[in-house]
Amino acid sequence: MVKENTLKLTQSIWDYTSSDTSSHTSFINLGKYLVMIDTGMNAESTKKLREFAELTTNLKFKYVIITHYHGDHTFGTKVFEDCDIISTQWTKALLTKKVENEYKDKEIILPNKTFTGEYQIKDGSRILKIIETNGHTKGSAFVYLPDEGAIITGDLLFAKMFPFAGDSTVNPYKWIDGLQKMIDLKPNIVIPGHGLISSISELKEQQELLIELVKVIEEMIDQRMSIQEIKKSKRFPKYPFDVNERWLNMTIENFYKVIKEKKEEI
Ligand SMILES: [Zn+2]
Repeated sequence: MVKENTLKLTQSIWDYTSSDTSSHTSFINLGKYLVMIDTGMNAESTKKLREFAELTTNLKFKYVIITHYHGDHTFGTKVFEDCDIISTQWTKALLTKKVENEYKDKEIILPNKTFTGEYQIKDGSRILKIIETNGHTKGSAFVYLPDEGAIITGDLLFAKMFPFAGDSTVNPYKWIDGLQKMIDLKPNIVIPGHGLISSISELKEQQELLIELVKVIEEMIDQRMSIQEIKKSKRFPKYPFDVNERWLNMTIENFYKVIKEKKEEI
């Protein structure tokens, strides 16, 4: 199963996902060692992916990068006990809290290397950058491989899908800015958190969707509508894909909170 669903996307990047909508797990051959980006929800599959990767490349994993704390990106960490696990400080803090509560029965390995802003891994002449944007969650980050013009977005991109934007730490303004950072890098290939392998156009589509959602909610707040009235209103745009009602409601609730706070600051 792992082998069939694993694609070699560039000279050095491989990607695995169990279906069109489940989270992506990617690994990069940096030359002397391998780097895993996100670890999936199913540790069994991740273990097989690791075996496949090390057998195919004849190299070992040295680093694991966690783009954000959600379970479908972190439950497979237990397969990488011997590696350095890297995340933003906020991702580690949020994951630590989850491990003490909802994720108590999961064998998650917490990051042992954390950063804020930007972090670089160098292997000879090759550079891999991890850039913190926040947005989808506090501490969300994306991975950029300059020499291949590749971006691995974590959940900052749900390609051709309605995004999960219902995390309690979501910030649509930072998410929109984060997408702009990626667009400005003019990537050749974009690996989303969920959805099909993408390009710059999916980044722009996701950004437009978020801008539009924020605008609609801002307008309704200006008209002094309550959160209940906003949720009931039929003013939200129609999308060319299914919209999960529960996700939309969670999105509205959390965007409302952030937008209101921003308005009160001004
Ligand atoms: Zn997520």
